[in-house]
Amino acid sequence: MRAIVAHAAKDIRIEETGVPALGPEDIRVRIAFGGICGSDLHYYNHGGFGAVRLREPMILGHEIAGVVEAVGADCRRVKIGDRVAVSPNVPCNRCRYCLEGLQNQCLDVRFYGSAMRFPHVQGAFRESLVCRESQAHPVPGSLTLQEATMAEPLAVALHATRRAGSLMGRRVLVSGCGPIGALTIVAARRAGAAEIVATDIADGVLGFASRLGADRVINVAETPETLTAFGADKGYFDAVFEASGAAPALRTGIEVIRPRGVIMQLGLGGDMTIPINQVTFKEIELRGTFRFHEEFALALEFMGKGLIDVKPLITATKPLDEARDAFELANDRSQSMKVQIAF
Ligand code: ZN
Repeated sequence: MRAIVAHAAKDIRIEETGVPALGPEDIRVRIAFGGICGSDLHYYNHGGFGAVRLREPMILGHEIAGVVEAVGADCRRVKIGDRVAVSPNVPCNRCRYCLEGLQNQCLDVRFYGSAMRFPHVQGAFRESLVCRESQAHPVPGSLTLQEATMAEPLAVALHATRRAGSLMGRRVLVSGCGPIGALTIVAARRAGAAEIVATDIADGVLGFASRLGADRVINVAETPETLTAFGADKGYFDAVFEASGAAPALRTGIEVIRPRGVIMQLGLGGDMTIPINQVTFKEIELRGTFRFHEEFALALEFMGKGLIDVKPLITATKPLDEARDAFELANDRSQSMKVQIAF
């Protein structure tokens, strides 16, 4: 079985690796497609992000879908031949947060392709994956496995949208139009947003944002004043989804949000300095949003019913042998949104 293994920055290799034994509650999935995520790119480009560094070789990848090829003795729900999307989130289901239904806050979580703990949690960019039956979600018949692979990033956007509260009739700003920002545009529209303005510093991704339904896009590298004009009269937007992780984007978000608006922080950045008095004066709610749990199934349901179409975001699919090219292509924001690898 072959897998995509990251050894260091710019050093990924396709390597043979063993297939783990199948436990009674496990299934084995023949992976069909894997989507390259921003975190995979961080490991590829820099060997990690922030304090999280590669300390041993790690299989990348956590956006995957495929076909079940074996099931353990105690599996009841999933059958051989089923098409499934696999959630990369493996909560312990025993800690206090899991027992409260907050699996995304699990104290002992394992998330595929993550160097946050040591030994690292090996990822899912491999031809064959052994996972728990509970991680596998059936793919609706109307969806391709490529679309189903988008369940994971879409779940992130749905979780953020949910945590923002009602968006019905609201005016929304999305800053940062990579895959998560782009999917947030779609999710916010589905949640009833009346107006969506999207910003980025790259025209390529802003083109996608327009096609996905943003009412207006602004390149804040070229015309930052177009966005800051929304700061008149204490601000315009009811909700801001900050998906870039860039300090200036959060700062501007605080400037253009109206009193009592909600800022959802999705993007991960370093430490930031923000005008905290504005948070006080305008009674702004600054909320974090992290990963997802039950939204994974919701993502498949929305896509399956045709309520959310992710096809325009899948810009390229490369075979496993060309994994390095796929990562380089994913780096190119002038032409790529989501690049997938076909296993
Ligand atoms: Zn837990």
